[in-house]
Amino acid sequence: MSPEARERRIEATWAGLPVRGVSVAGRETWFHLPTLHFAFDLGRAPTALVSVPNVFLSHAHLDHAAGLAYWCSQRRLLRLPGGTARTHPAAVPAWTKLLALHEALEAVRYDARVEAMESGARVSLRRDLEVEAFEADHRVPTLGFVASEIRNRLREDLAGHLPGEIRDAAARGEAVAEKVAIPLVAYSGDTGAGVFARAPRSFFTAKVLLLECSFVEESDRERSEKWRHLHLDEIAERADLFENEVVVLTHLTLRTSPGDIRKAIARRLPPRLAARTVPFLPE
Ligand SMILES: [Zn+2]
Ligand SMILES: [Zn+2]
Repeated sequence: MSPEARERRIEATWAGLPVRGVSVAGRETWFHLPTLHFAFDLGRAPTALVSVPNVFLSHAHLDHAAGLAYWCSQRRLLRLPGGTARTHPAAVPAWTKLLALHEALEAVRYDARVEAMESGARVSLRRDLEVEAFEADHRVPTLGFVASEIRNRLREDLAGHLPGEIRDAAARGEAVAEKVAIPLVAYSGDTGAGVFARAPRSFFTAKVLLLECSFVEESDRERSEKWRHLHLDEIAERADLFENEVVVLTHLTLRTSPGDIRKAIARRLPPRLAARTVPFLPE
């Protein structure tokens, strides 16, 4: 498969969740979750992402973030109000300067903005949708994210009580419902193995996990450590952590062919994890 073919857009549905995107190590990475109306990373900002109002930007490497100014500029041209790209606080001052330079060069004002998101912070996008950030482990400050569906359910200690008792409790002004978060999709950003200690539990229970795995060949183990990327063997060594319905391996290197990547997954991951793991590769 040619490098150009590897950069083709992929559309898939995993655990009922549609995902579109491109992810090739060093070239371009973005994921659009069309039913959730947000994106993880922007890549070179394809047209499909211009109308997406919320972007969670993992880090400033240009294979993930080159399109930021273009996204702001295109939103202005199309008269789309607002637009928020949330990213690591350490990167925000430089992005703000860069966007101001582009505004000056274009003699316009962008409505879209870059905002800092602290590790551990949660952003509510809808009444029923929340995104949490955590610190990943890469060569530049990087965030990973977990998006969860928020549901209201009957307070646990009231389960089994008669409807009349629950009505009475509500009438007394007691809160009878509680919020539960159901992790839907998690994204690691670019990361080394530090992510396994830093990510919240929900990262490993999200229905779909978009997990960076740049390298799969034994000879690339040193390279992956040096550039703070994950290697398939590091995932295999922690196979018991993953309770996700589907683990999608992203950011795969062009140095290894799709056929060899698939073989490595089948051979190197324990069968119980290999059966739930798919490489983010074009057919
Ligand atoms: Zn990258
Ligand atoms: Zn990177």
